[in-house]
Amino acid sequence: MNKDCPPSSPVVELRNLTLKRGRRTILDGIDLSLEAGQSLAIVGPSGAGKTTILRLLAGLELPSSGELFLFGQRQDYLRLDQWRPPDVRLVSQNPALLGSLSVLQNVGFLLFRHSLLPEPEIRLRVARCLEAVGLAGTENLMPSELSGGMQKRVSFARAMIDNPETESETPLLLFDEPTAGLDPVASTRIEDLMVTTTHLSRGSSVVVSHVLSTIERSAKQVALLYDGKLRWQGSVDSFRSADNPYVVQFRTASLTGPMQPQEL
Ligand code: ADP
Ligand code: MG
Repeated sequence: MNKDCPPSSPVVELRNLTLKRGRRTILDGIDLSLEAGQSLAIVGPSGAGKTTILRLLAGLELPSSGELFLFGQRQDYLRLDQWRPPDVRLVSQNPALLGSLSVLQNVGFLLFRHSLLPEPEIRLRVARCLEAVGLAGTENLMPSELSGGMQKRVSFARAMIDNPETESETPLLLFDEPTAGLDPVASTRIEDLMVTTTHLSRGSSVVVSHVLSTIERSAKQVALLYDGKLRWQGSVDSFRSADNPYVVQFRTASLTGPMQPQEL
């Protein structure tokens, strides 16, 4: 628990949040919350605004109106003197490893740069995270020597590493389409990894996915987004049987229904 977070505060709370780019409304009046230790899947067709929500939670986008609370702290970018960076870790769709740095340097990047920890301690922390993702002993490899799946796992290890100086005990982990393009066995491995990564870091998670097995294995709550608006929210169990037309169309991958594919 973040020490500034009152015990009852949700980890994430969006209140009537709107995000515009130029004249286009990308997110429109979103109300959403996530309790500590919970896992939420955001689903919806391409262009719905899912990645934009994750980028907003990671502090990479600013709302145009409405409010965003993280760990009970209002994210008020006009009052930066009173703002403390929340512990939010985004695992983006592309592993985005730094090509000129080894696995050790990629996973330990923040600790090498922004902590006073001695190098042997950082190496130990990196080794523990690599072991958790099944890549023990790969510290000296370069990203170009790794397969796509291994790069993905390194990006998970990077999200797991703790900096004791931030004093946050429950990070928020964000995963953007972690199993897109993977075969079923590799997908299962990544889904398990998301659950263990979140569990080991005692955190909460938001996963964006189109893949039903990923949603069912890695989340307890589901929010369906279409055209910048939240159309349905509920438990994974009720998602399986809900008769909301958006949910039915998503579940059955039907071409007919309220959601039209984004024009290419
Ligand atoms: P999703 O992840 O659900 O596919 P995104 O959040 O990436 O959707 O995008 C939501 C909408 O915002 C889309 O219509 C997309 O075209 C638009 N968009 C995304 N990134 C940008 C950008 N950098 N500039 C302008 N529009 C963008
Ligand atoms: Mg996306």
